[in-house]
Amino acid sequence: MANILLRDQEIADIGTYDVYVQHGGYEGLKKALSMSPKEVIALVKESNLRGRGGAGFSAGMKWSFVPEVEGPKYVVVNADESEPGTFKDRQILEKNTQQLIEGALICAYAIQASAIYIYVRGEFWDIGFNIEREVEKARAGGWVGEKIGGADWGCEIYVHWGAGAYICGEESAMLNSIEGKLGQPRVRPPFPAVAGLYARPTVINNVETLANVPPIIVNGAAWYKSIGTEKSPGPKIFCMSGHIAKPGNYELPLGSTFRQLIELAGGVRDGKQLKAILPSGASGPLLPATDKVLDTPLTYEDVAALGSTLGSASVIILDEDTDMVWAALKMIKFFRHESCGKCTPCREGTYWLEQRLSAIYHKTATKADVALIESVAVQMQGKSLCALGDFATSPVLSALKYWRDEFYAYVEPAKPVPATKAPARKPAAEAAAVAGD
Ligand code: SF4
Repeated sequence: MANILLRDQEIADIGTYDVYVQHGGYEGLKKALSMSPKEVIALVKESNLRGRGGAGFSAGMKWSFVPEVEGPKYVVVNADESEPGTFKDRQILEKNTQQLIEGALICAYAIQASAIYIYVRGEFWDIGFNIEREVEKARAGGWVGEKIGGADWGCEIYVHWGAGAYICGEESAMLNSIEGKLGQPRVRPPFPAVAGLYARPTVINNVETLANVPPIIVNGAAWYKSIGTEKSPGPKIFCMSGHIAKPGNYELPLGSTFRQLIELAGGVRDGKQLKAILPSGASGPLLPATDKVLDTPLTYEDVAALGSTLGSASVIILDEDTDMVWAALKMIKFFRHESCGKCTPCREGTYWLEQRLSAIYHKTATKADVALIESVAVQMQGKSLCALGDFATSPVLSALKYWRDEFYAYVEPAKPVPATKAPARKPAAEAAAVAGD
């Protein structure tokens, strides 16, 4: 089957305006403009397109939450791709640029937004300029600005660069960042659909999610649902990295298995045995390389049933030589560094996890520290303002679940605490003299 999202692998320069239009580009937006905004939302809802940024929430449902009110509404494209091992949005932004722009415009039409903000991570400065160039070409083609496609609706597109903070990929922190505020998550409610950017109704969608939209509008919901599984339909880009022979992006229908994906990427590097898989970068729990795991369909619900998460499908492969204490420490360092510090369990918890895990790794800890990091991680769960606080516990708890012996191998058994003798009480008069009374 031809790629639906990574069309650049088959058609040279498909990300540029002229080539995109030659290959059916903007037919989706044209068709959308012939429908009412409500019909567009209903079609995307029916397709059951699920958000590709990690949560897997229905895109059409999200769009339907936006109230029909007067005044500005916004679409924010989450292009702040920063999860370790994730580089799928980058390929869309760089080489399938027009498909993203068209998808964002269809979303904007569906909620009647007047502006789209594409929030790219700070390190993507050259990619941001590429998007700006392609936006201008789309404007020249009549697809950006006023009276788009002759309709009584117009929309502007702005590129906004982040400053390199992982937390700004969290949607409410992203809104703060665009507004020029400190990039920290907001307390919800209100949710962005009602009060988002500049307190106006806002839809925030991931790059890959929006790239799915034009082919859905052109080909219909039934076509889309014929790909993948009933609950997780459509194509998905899987980022393969770590100890894999051919790292890179692979587009497959959702429902393919880990085994198929690993084979497609050339197998484990240097002919080594597979030890563990991170299905969603550093944020999802580690999985051991059992047959059950390898034959699990890659869908949001099947990977969740294994006790992990599909997330953005950034699959990191770990071979038989991987030290799981080292791997957990690397991930905790990342989360401690990226914690925005707004809430105590995450700010303090990530600090103490790194501190004690580092002591374990450097063999200056005891068995009691293994119990301590487990206890800290469990106590952090469900107590933070945003998902980072929970993500940070995954490497520790999942590594302990499957490879606890590796942690014990680093530590001395806890030494019994010597019984302390209570000091003999001095006679009252002598004690008073010592105290200077
Ligand atoms: Fe910030 Fe962590 Fe709290 Fe999220 S969980 S708001 S990253 S301190």
